[in-house]
Amino acid sequence: MTIGFIGLGIMGRPMAKNLIKAGYSLVVYDKFVNFDDITALGAGAASSNRDLAAKSDLVITMLPNSPHVKDAVLGPGGVIEGIKSGATVVDMSSIAPAVSREVAAALKARGVNFLDAPVSGGEPKAIDGTLAIMAGGDEKVFNEVKPVLEKLGSSVVLVGDVGAGNITKLANQIVVALNIAAVSEAFVLAHKAGVDPVKVFDAIKGGLAGSTVMNAKVPMILDGNFKPGFRIELHIKDLQNALDTAHDLGVPVPLTAGVMETLQALKTDGMAANDHSAIVRYYEKLAKTEVRK
Ligand code: NAD
Repeated sequence: MTIGFIGLGIMGRPMAKNLIKAGYSLVVYDKFVNFDDITALGAGAASSNRDLAAKSDLVITMLPNSPHVKDAVLGPGGVIEGIKSGATVVDMSSIAPAVSREVAAALKARGVNFLDAPVSGGEPKAIDGTLAIMAGGDEKVFNEVKPVLEKLGSSVVLVGDVGAGNITKLANQIVVALNIAAVSEAFVLAHKAGVDPVKVFDAIKGGLAGSTVMNAKVPMILDGNFKPGFRIELHIKDLQNALDTAHDLGVPVPLTAGVMETLQALKTDGMAANDHSAIVRYYEKLAKTEVRK
């Protein structure tokens, strides 16, 4: 079996490397960035998304958002022009659930299977192969590709039909964004009150307020290290997809809307390419203080 991997950015690059390490035969492609380091490890280089699909039995995509997935899979020179009937496409990008269903329908008309399988865990877990993977699609197709996904993640769960993976990811992104905002607000308060933020972290991380988000982001905040990781502009994309999906369903999401405005303010302030832990910068500016060691 040959796996084609499209999208070799922050996440896709280490994921592709893990599949090579696991012994799979890989073909790789990215439209905008160089990927010589991956072909140097033994992967074949494709010249386009179509060329990659023609050489693959399973195509995995890891792209920024819905328009990129539509371009890579359905656009001119896209996967759909090269892929064999009976092959499978697994889109691991975080995109609008409605677009997952649209892409799945177009591929199904050509006899091609589709799963949406977005991930949580960020770059460190992409490198370690310990991502949390939430998949939507047919159970038989899921079981066929599960051994491959298990090389990328430590948890691989089928949550429902096509689109359910990205609905789950939207829920995940709401929890993460609101959690970072809550941690930021709380630590700015403690710091301005004169309490050492390192000691606040030590005191509360093991209690009910503790979280994976707190453990990952507070050390970055204390170091003033906002190198991504997960860029603010990508979280804006996810919350926009969450707001659109929620409003289509008649679900008000007031806290999500509030944090979206915080992210928009940070973008206006030139921080779109910073890690989302830079949400703390918004609260720091309001309170005229900086939470550092
Ligand atoms: P990225 O921007 O670093 O990488 C995306 C890659 O896709 C880029 O290298 C780009 O050149 C390529 N690309 C774009 N359009 C293309 C096309 N039409 N054909 C071929 N290649 C194309 O993004 P990332 O941080 O790796 O994130 C990828 C996805 O994973 C996003 O949906 C993101 O929300 C999600 N995600 C990211 C993280 C994280 O911490 N970075 C965590 C979980 C989920």
